[in-house]
Amino acid sequence: SPFEGSCCGSSYVSSENSVGITKYRVVLLGESGVGKSALVSQFMTSEYMNTYDASLDDEFGEKSVSVLLDEEENEVVFIDHPAHEMSVENCLTTYEPHACVVVYAVTDRASFKKAEDVLNYLWRESCVDKMAVILVGNKVDLVRNRSVSSEEGKAAATHHDAKFIETSSGLQHNVDELLVGVVKQIRLRLAAKKK
Ligand code: GDP
Ligand code: MG
Repeated sequence: SPFEGSCCGSSYVSSENSVGITKYRVVLLGESGVGKSALVSQFMTSEYMNTYDASLDDEFGEKSVSVLLDEEENEVVFIDHPAHEMSVENCLTTYEPHACVVVYAVTDRASFKKAEDVLNYLWRESCVDKMAVILVGNKVDLVRNRSVSSEEGKAAATHHDAKFIETSSGLQHNVDELLVGVVKQIRLRLAAKKK
């Protein structure tokens, strides 16, 4: 593979900031128009959202936030680049993320195909061993326009050792669950690595 060792070669150890709080990096991947930015903005209104650093807001599609989970603060940076700006492999080498959130719209089969391509890539490169990978089927509120079933989404995730969730950023359905799930998955991976 031309990408051998290029993206997931390094170990995804957590970096600590000046006050010793671990900062997790989460990249959002997927076709444009599937609702990545909408999901990140919904995270900001979550009851788990503790604080949010507005200074970093949007400039590079990055949002630095603090998520309160089990009485613990989790510093998280959501990296939401427009899809055309950076390839997946480039994104991984640049950010060495702790988690990848791969989003498609259940109304858009082409976006599901694209998400599967990304999952294939992550799986081939053994990224799934080193970081949390979550497949997200968004826009479930558009019931009558659905063209990708829950079963297909679930099967694709299972096949690639990824987690799966369906969301609607419009109706706030499962948005908190996704936010909390991402943080929990990262923590589980880091805890497993320490053993
Ligand atoms: P991105 O390109 O992946 O960042 O997608 P955006 O967040 O910009 O969303 C693209 C369009 O889809 C916007 O018009 C959103 O309002 C719409 N959208 C995003 N999420 C949902 C959803 O869950 N349901 C519906 N019906 N529309 C959504
Ligand atoms: Mg966007």
